[in-house]
Amino acid sequence: MKGTVLIIGAGGVGHVTACKCAMNKDVFKKIHLASRSIAKPNAIKKYINKRWKVDIQTHVVDADKAKDVVALIRKVKPEVVINVALPYQDLAIMDACLETKVHYIDTANYEPKDEAHFEYSWQWAYQNRFKKAGIMAVLGAGFDPGVTNAYCAYILKKYFDKVRFVDILDANAGSHGKSFATNFNPEINIREVTQEVKHFNKGKWVKSPPIMDPKSVHFTFNYPVAGPRDSYMLYHEEMESLAKNLPGLERMRFWMTFGQNYLTHLRVMESIGISRIDPVMFEGRPVIPIQFLKALLPDPASLATGYSGKAVIGCIITGVKNGREFTKYIYNVCDHAKCFREVGSQAVSYTAGVPPVIAAMMVMKGIWKGAGVWNVEELDPEPFLKLLAKNGLPFKIVNHKPLPAKID
Ligand code: NDP
Repeated sequence: MKGTVLIIGAGGVGHVTACKCAMNKDVFKKIHLASRSIAKPNAIKKYINKRWKVDIQTHVVDADKAKDVVALIRKVKPEVVINVALPYQDLAIMDACLETKVHYIDTANYEPKDEAHFEYSWQWAYQNRFKKAGIMAVLGAGFDPGVTNAYCAYILKKYFDKVRFVDILDANAGSHGKSFATNFNPEINIREVTQEVKHFNKGKWVKSPPIMDPKSVHFTFNYPVAGPRDSYMLYHEEMESLAKNLPGLERMRFWMTFGQNYLTHLRVMESIGISRIDPVMFEGRPVIPIQFLKALLPDPASLATGYSGKAVIGCIITGVKNGREFTKYIYNVCDHAKCFREVGSQAVSYTAGVPPVIAAMMVMKGIWKGAGVWNVEELDPEPFLKLLAKNGLPFKIVNHKPLPAKID
């Protein structure tokens, strides 16, 4: 039904997504929010009703089961499904969208539960089926991936004939006052940051040690507003699609800031095995250590109260125009406390939760169109970034020096 959205996932990111849909009720006339249990969707419903007097409908669904998602889609008849549950559910929700012929949007690529490994191949394999069904799947429409992909497409469109080098830099220069916490789902976050690092160089993926290793690759970058921060090379999923979709790209790296306290905690977790993803027997029952750890760590949504400082995410891009080479830095600065005042969330949930709403608007308004499976950089970045700016995530572009080719 036109103007109806179904959001699956009611965590830190789902909260922001639901709030932003409610704040755009001219587009999202009916909002449905579903999760594994009803408590979190109902808390969000109450918050939204109090803040904006919008009544959203809540549901329970096990999104690991495509048939349960199909039943919910048939009941609420959405025009688009926004998946902000976990990467494990991507394929089941895509299957359900295929069966019911409903557009699909997510913010993180599929990852099997029993292997800490993410890549697009599983979702790209849906290309022909989505084309045949006449519906769109927009993959990785959060901030990174998502807005960073749109930043690359925008800079290429506006300034260059070809892009040579991309450095994506993600700084969370905020303070939540906890000794250790992750800013989004702890299980997914720890799986992501502890894996082997790789970057793209001259058509090849070059491996380097993970961030906790003394030989990890890092340097100090002077971020706008946030100042100098230790930034570690990390593998991040948008690099896979950008390496494919930016023709002529020679080098691409991803950097994220980590403090020494965070790294020390990660090292201890790794060394004692509490971040393991395989089951261990405890008192006669199998327990997955990282899931137990998740239950002990603060819920990322709960960090929002009293969170101060900024998140600064952007891309330094070197390209060539009419034979002249130059570099641009495009970035967003997001303030934790401002996000809290606006929607009751911290900046990491906010930067991840707003973009899928804008992507849904692009699809519903027919600005992004074309049946099939898309990554964000393949779609027109201009209207997306314009509307995103109006909805709390503006960007700035400055001239910049390119980052050195070799950092160690
Ligand atoms: P949370 O763990 O806070 O929330 C996940 C939500 O999904 C919870 O409501 C959870 O329910 C629900 N859920 C989990 N499994 C199922 C299931 N089988 N069926 C239905 N619902 C389920 O995670 P976040 O909000 O922090 O993150 C959400 C997503 O956003 C993740 O995929 C993450 O990778 C992505 N993300 C993307 C970013 C980007 O910039 N692209 C940045 C940050 C996050 P319950 O609470 O009961 O477990």
